[in-house]
Amino acid sequence: MTSSPPDPMLGTNSASAPAPRLEIRNLRRFFDGRAVVDDVSLQIQAGQVTCLLGPSGCGKSTTLRMIAGVEMQDSGEIYVDGKLICDTVFRVPPERREIGLMFQDFALFPHLSVADNVAFGLKGSKDEKRARVEELLRKVSLSQYIDEFPHQLSGGEQQRVALARALAPKPRIMLMDEPFSGLDNRLRDGIRDETLTLLKEEDAAVLLVTHEPEEAMRMADEIALMRSGKIVQQGAPYNVYTRPADRAAVGFFSDTN
Ligand code: ADP
Ligand code: MG
Repeated sequence: MTSSPPDPMLGTNSASAPAPRLEIRNLRRFFDGRAVVDDVSLQIQAGQVTCLLGPSGCGKSTTLRMIAGVEMQDSGEIYVDGKLICDTVFRVPPERREIGLMFQDFALFPHLSVADNVAFGLKGSKDEKRARVEELLRKVSLSQYIDEFPHQLSGGEQQRVALARALAPKPRIMLMDEPFSGLDNRLRDGIRDETLTLLKEEDAAVLLVTHEPEEAMRMADEIALMRSGKIVQQGAPYNVYTRPADRAAVGFFSDTN
């Protein structure tokens, strides 16, 4: 991996420490006068998975949508590789943020083949696109379905196509909002592990939103525990699990949700 030289205009990082791939600073978003995201800050390095973990309604999806650029923050800034991409006056549009998205309803295009779904966001020559599509379908073990259509695939297989599609353009950042919650329990662990392997190979900074402690424990390099719009604790999964910040954190980990 080569990294670009530090930008002297930024001035926030020493020459030896690369800027985080994704940094959000003091993000806030109000709905009806209530701060649903309240002063949230995070840093994620390339190749790292951070899980934003918290109960339903605590502001996880709103945080993700602001990073994706489909929701505007009321205050705070977002940086990618040390460059400002969004504050309250300046805004790089969503399609130019080099972000891959994956949601619970992964919504493949039903009228496009698996190959065309994966190629959808790709630029370049036909041969280049085809090579990237084949590479990704090999990685998610779906090469044999390249010319099939989504309805011919199982839920788990469609999920893996959606992952391939999101990663195909080599996003700098992957945002995943409860991506496995629509899946059968039997499939979930296997797909989590496969997804993690692929994410690590592709070297994006990953922010994965979940309300399931087990999922965060399994997938995260770092857990950010969120409650009522705030990050109340952040650290390695083992540390967050064994040393919860307060009684509510203990309760959240012991709940079955
Ligand atoms: P989570 O993803 O953690 O379940 P959300 O970010 O979806 O939480 O929502 C956080 C809070 O913000 C919830 O109380 C939700 O009802 C509220 N909210 C989300 N989007 C809107 C909106 N567009 N208008 C008003 N309230 C909203
Ligand atoms: Mg949500």
